[in-house]
Parts: sequence; C-alpha cells; structure tokens
Amino acid sequence: MINFKELAAIYKTPLYIYDLDYMTQQYEELKEAFKGRKSLMAYAIKSNSNLSIIKHFASLGSGADCVSIGEVRRAFLAGIPSYKIIFSGVGKSDDEIREAIQKDILYINVESEAELGRVELIAKELKVACRISIRVNPNIDPLTHPYISTGLHDNKFGVEIDTAKRMYIRANNSEHLDPVGIHFHIGSQLTELKPIYESAEIVADMVRSLKNIKIELKFFDIGGGLGIKYKDEVTIKPYDYAQAILGTLKGLDLTVICEPGRFLTANAGYFLTKVLYEKQNGAKRFVVVDGGMNDLLRPSLYNAYHAIEAITKSTTAKSKADVVGPVCESGDFFAKDCLLPSLEHNDLLVIHSAGAYGFGMGSNYNTRGRSAEVALKGGEARLIRKREEFEDLIALEKEFLVD
Ligand SMILES: *Cc1c(COP(=O)(O)O)cnc(C)c1O
Repeated sequence: MINFKELAAIYKTPLYIYDLDYMTQQYEELKEAFKGRKSLMAYAIKSNSNLSIIKHFASLGSGADCVSIGEVRRAFLAGIPSYKIIFSGVGKSDDEIREAIQKDILYINVESEAELGRVELIAKELKVACRISIRVNPNIDPLTHPYISTGLHDNKFGVEIDTAKRMYIRANNSEHLDPVGIHFHIGSQLTELKPIYESAEIVADMVRSLKNIKIELKFFDIGGGLGIKYKDEVTIKPYDYAQAILGTLKGLDLTVICEPGRFLTANAGYFLTKVLYEKQNGAKRFVVVDGGMNDLLRPSLYNAYHAIEAITKSTTAKSKADVVGPVCESGDFFAKDCLLPSLEHNDLLVIHSAGAYGFGMGSNYNTRGRSAEVALKGGEARLIRKREEFEDLIALEKEFLVD
C-alpha cells in the first residue's frame, strides 16, 4: 500500500507518483509473451519521458521508441544503447533526421515518400546508408477513441500498402538507404484483438511479397497500443496478443519489435491532489482541487475516465460531484458526477491510472509550475523531478524583457 498522506506531507501536492515495481512486472509479462522469438521491447518514451523512468526500462533491457529528437536524446542520456533506439513520427525536420543518422540508431521509421527522399538526401550528404523501416497504414479500424486511432487512411500516419511497396523498391535501389524493417501502429488503448491480428496479417503478407523480390527485412515492428484497465474495460492479455501476432509470421525469420507505452506506465502512476474546498452552484456540487488540466490533460482532451479515490476522515454518505481544478477553463475537470463523501480542506484525492500521458502532456498554462514527480522502488520513495518554481517558468523570457 502506498502511503499517499506521507508522500503529500514530504513532497507537497499536486504530485505524480510512479510505482517502478509495477512497471517491471508489466514489462516482464509482455517480454515473456514473445519468448521463443527474437524480440525487442522498445518503450514508447512519450507515454512517460522522465529520465529515471527511461533508465528503469533501460535496466530491464528495453529499447526506446522516440517521436522527436528530444526523445532520442533522452533515450541516450538514460543509457539505452543506439542499436535499440527507433525514431518514428509523421513530421521530422532535417536537423532531426541528420542527428538520428549521426547517432547511428537502429532505424528511422519513415512515414511518407517525401520523407524517404529527405532521409536519402541527408544520408547522402553524410556519406552513409541509413537503416529505415516504413510505417504502413493497413486501413483497419482499431475500434478505439478517434483521437487515438491511427490505422485508418483518414489518419495522418503511415503510407498505404501500394505506396510502401514502391518505397521499399526505391530504398533497396539506393546506396544511401537500407530498408531493414516494417512498422505498423494502428492506435492506442486497443482492447480488441481482431484489428491487431488483421493488421499483422496484411503487413506479414507484405513482408512475404517483398521477400519474393529479394528485399529481405529483419524487423517486424508491431507498434504499441495495448490497452489497460481504466474502469471496466476487458483488456487483451499479453500472451494472446503475442500469439495472435506470431501466428501471422509463420516461415518468416524476423525480430519482433513492440513499442509499449501506456501498458507499461499508465497503471503504475498516481496523480495526487489536495482538496481546496467544496462549492455548490445551484444543484451542482463541485470539489475544487489544487491540480489542474495543465497537470493532467486527459479528462479535458479525451473526456478520459480516471478513477478517483478520496483519502479523508469523512464518513458522510457519498453524493455526486464534479472534481475541478483552478485553471480558467470550463474544460478543467478530472471527473464529472463522481461519487464522493463530503470533503474538507487538505483532504487528498488520488487520481488513478495517471502514469501514461500525464505529466508529459502537462503545460504551464495559467503560469502554473508543473508538479514534482516521485518514484517508488522496493518501498522507497525518490524525487525524480523537482516541482517547477516561478523562476523556472520565466527564465527564458526574463533576459529578453522589452520596454
Ligand atoms: C504512441 C506510440 C506508441 C505507444 O502507444 P501506447 O498506446 O502508449 O502503447 C508506440 N508506437 C508509436 C509509433 C506511437 O506513436
């Protein structure tokens, strides 16, 4: 049991808390599911990019899936070896491509024909051959929230199968491109196996047809997206996930690369916030807390559900309340019509499943410093990021202050 009261007393609120032992457990379960095949877990850094978290996964043998050169730099800083680092994303600048090539990472995930051209040109300038993978869009509906769906043609991600084939032929004929992998990532918070399986079939068939024309790939990158339980979702078991994918790879000698984010970090994380006061507007009850949408954006952005637990001495009957933050937006809420007992100043609320896409999506809106972050390992708590102070927020403006 995590002693939230003690953590709040030591580190103050709002506060992010991450259970590293839980992350280890999730990592091991997923890795184990792919045993019998060569596989690499490439942790999706964007889900929680704190250096200590990345370092923790590095210590377990994980690689990294990065979507900006900043994330690539984080991966290196945290000790992930270059040959386990992948660079994905729909829009990479020339500088980002150049640095990724110079750092000799495992491969760049290319998401368009135009990008393939840029990568080729930059590799030529650097007089090297760049390892690439192509992100294929299998046009399968992932059956998840439209904002986190990526595998349909109306999404911006990846290229169609026919385009991909043309790109592989071009890459194979280029002195400066070395096509080594194929990639797909159809969406996030996936709870249905069928779309994953169908996508893997399509992509595996593509690998076979490339093999027939003597283009031999080494890496089959299945992206991330494995869903977790926020409320009452029935999730996919890692074993079933792995079996479904491996079943499509018969006769192919490929290393499977998996890019889990949320699955590893979401339920390892808690966002701890303090009750400022209650207020009643007509029939509506509000609980106002010290954390806001600038700390945890998911409820505002996706109307996402996060379970909320109250730590209070209050024994009153529960009634419905909206849990809202101090930010000047009506969208600044953590829950609507949440059943809570009556709460007092300084009572704590624990917002669950906050380890993924929590702190990382944070901002300084309303000139609010971002929360501190604490990691728990073997029962011990360690501060892994200081709370931002006012001085941190204005540092880049102050010396340029104009009259
Ligand atoms: C976001 C992303 C992931 C991780 O997604 P999760 O749903 O957190 O597992 C993996 N790969 C790519 C390319 C991504 O964009």
